[in-house]
Amino acid sequence: MEGNTVNFAAVTGHFHVGSNMPGYLPETDVFCAENLELAGQYLADEIERSQEMMAENCEGEGETPDSQDMGSACCAWCAEYWSMQTVISGIRAVEHDVLHEFIRDGGYTYHHTPPTGAPVVFWITNVAGAHGNIETCDIYRDQENPA
Ligand SMILES: [Zn+2]
Ligand SMILES: [Zn+2]
Repeated sequence: MEGNTVNFAAVTGHFHVGSNMPGYLPETDVFCAENLELAGQYLADEIERSQEMMAENCEGEGETPDSQDMGSACCAWCAEYWSMQTVISGIRAVEHDVLHEFIRDGGYTYHHTPPTGAPVVFWITNVAGAHGNIETCDIYRDQENPA
């Protein structure tokens, strides 16, 4: 075991980032990233967009999660908002958190469960082996050369 030592060599190839409702295909494009830091940044941005919807649904009178004390128990939307904030901060502040989970679990997933509506799973997968070279990835090619 490596303990807390980050072993970059343990993760090769490149990365795909996406989100979908469990059991459904992604509704938005999968993002192709050449390294884990880039993948993590993109994932944090994606989670942040869903987090904004939690803020918009806040049931507090004239309130938003941002206008209240951090971690306030205002409503279920705020609870999910702050739970997401912890995840986003973790990805942004300690970039290697994501890498640790990769080495341990072979991937990264975050399950977002809004008070009402469909849950969403956010994920990063590692594309390795024969498809590991990003230059040969169809998603990357479409991304870099939009039609
Ligand atoms: Zn790719
Ligand atoms: Zn609220």
